[in-house]
Amino acid sequence: MKEKKVAVITGGARGIGRAICLRLADDGYDIAFDYRSDDENAELTKKMCEQKGVKAIAVKGDVADPAHCKEFVNLSKEFGGGKIDVLINNAGITRDGLIGLMKDDDMDAVLNVNLKGAFYMMREVSRIMIKNRGGKIVNLSSVVGISGNAGQVNYAASKAAVIGMTKSLAKELSSRNINVNAVAPGFIETDMTEKLPPQVKESAVDSIALKRIGKAEEVAGAVSFLCSKDSEYITGQVICVDGGMVI
Ligand code: NDP
Repeated sequence: MKEKKVAVITGGARGIGRAICLRLADDGYDIAFDYRSDDENAELTKKMCEQKGVKAIAVKGDVADPAHCKEFVNLSKEFGGGKIDVLINNAGITRDGLIGLMKDDDMDAVLNVNLKGAFYMMREVSRIMIKNRGGKIVNLSSVVGISGNAGQVNYAASKAAVIGMTKSLAKELSSRNINVNAVAPGFIETDMTEKLPPQVKESAVDSIALKRIGKAEEVAGAVSFLCSKDSEYITGQVICVDGGMVI
């Protein structure tokens, strides 16, 4: 009998998170994902995974809440028969604005979800992976965490911090056979980018070497690679999936 593999994904109801759930389901993982509020889309992601012949659970909650992360990880461990093979920290938000107009809450909310949420999840999951002597962790950063972006000091800070956290944890967990990497998407077509004005999208496309916006499935492909046997010798790295936006 084939060994059961379990992947835990945050923010799996829509966008890149859903594409990652579906791609890892194709790769044979049972899928445990969480989401914040969108029950309808969460149910749809769950059904789409199950149609691929794997098991799936959807857990509602906020990754900025450490109690939710603990509960989500415990449920995922139970679902996985005592282990977790893969963790993908995907849940993320934006609260864009120029610095003079940015409220304390815009900074706190973005750091709490994008940075601290990933930290809470890695703290819980790493304990399980250490016991099982292996695992793969992939964090969703962003190219703006590398290059910066006007109007996104909060978001860019959170995504740069995710890179620092990825590299540090890669060093900390390397002796336990756990790989920790990051994927930094550029401009990807999802609800997050849908809300941007057309002129912002046009000028973004201008700055992309491949002259097009990326697809969520293209990000999921890089995540799948970082969870596969083919990337066993890769840790502490950041793979940009940005069509050459930042070279
Ligand atoms: P979307 O806004 O399309 O989807 C975000 C998903 O995360 C949703 O399922 C949402 O749940 C969930 N989520 C948001 N906040 C929380 C929370 N506090 N707790 C649990 N789940 C939460 O985002 P994208 O798919 O575009 O982005 C995915 C990741 O990729 C993010 O980390 C983002 O920063 C990063 N990224 C995206 C880029 C892009 O161009 N789209 C570019 C670079 C990086 P619900 O559906 O319930 O609201």
